[in-house]
Amino acid sequence: MRIDLHTHSTVSDGTLTPAQVVAAAAEAGLDVVALTDHDGIDGWADARAAAERLGVGFVPGVELSCRWYAVDPAIPLHLLAYYVDPAHAELAAEMARVRSAREHRAERIVELMRADGVDVTWDEVQRYAAGATVGRPHLAQALIRRGLAATVADAFVPSMLGERWRLPKEDTDVFRALSLVLAAGGVPVFAHPRATKRGRVVPDELIKQMAGAGLFGLEADHEDHTPEQRAEVRALAADLGLVVTGSSDFHGANKPVKLGANLTAREAYERIRAAALM
Ligand code: AMP
Ligand code: FE
Ligand code: FE
Ligand code: ZN
Repeated sequence: MRIDLHTHSTVSDGTLTPAQVVAAAAEAGLDVVALTDHDGIDGWADARAAAERLGVGFVPGVELSCRWYAVDPAIPLHLLAYYVDPAHAELAAEMARVRSAREHRAERIVELMRADGVDVTWDEVQRYAAGATVGRPHLAQALIRRGLAATVADAFVPSMLGERWRLPKEDTDVFRALSLVLAAGGVPVFAHPRATKRGRVVPDELIKQMAGAGLFGLEADHEDHTPEQRAEVRALAADLGLVVTGSSDFHGANKPVKLGANLTAREAYERIRAAALM
């Protein structure tokens, strides 16, 4: 079975609609695909309908923007949450809070860019986001249109979004996120835990604490992990009794990675499903 448990649509910073992500998954020969937009679940209904039509297994998910606040400066991390109850009021409210904090942050980044002489407007960035959870890839669009970057990845160099115009998000405390996901009946998996190319990563000690707080799995096979990092994540998962997943973290045209670039084993997928049903 070909199972890809981490993708993004136009509900966050991907470029395909939720239904198009699922159609592309079917075309790529996937049997199961999860939709895991940043901090929002508005794509589930369309994705699920498309999956039923096309005979693809659908896993409803979300990628929560979290931070480990016990260290200074706090370290950001991403928590994938599968099968959360969409009607869980506290989780929904927390995701809405993070989305609105993202808007303020993007607006402030626009100000930083303008102060450096880049004539971007907040209006314009909002048009690129088109109601989605705003992220830096939407700001990258403005830079691409001005010829300041050729691709989204190029816009993330240190002289632009990667460092100079980087502002922290007001993310959810990672332990609060874990408890919200569990309270909402969901299954939490730590996304790309060793992705040093994205910035600082958390120590194994924190991952151990997260496991004690109900973390269910670790994403090992991810394009931002080297072979050594994947092996480290697998070993840690074995130590802590956690499930191992793999995914493309597909973002449509915003990233070169293809659907199905990395996969999750069937037994890991089945353990996640069984945990959701408990
Ligand atoms: P944000 O969530 O607003 O902090 O933006 C982070 C998002 O930007 C990630 O989820 C990726 O989609 C994207 N991103 C981060 N770094 C890069 C990169 N080097 N190249 C392309 N996209 C990136
Ligand atoms: Fe993203
Ligand atoms: Fe992520
Ligand atoms: Zn992602």
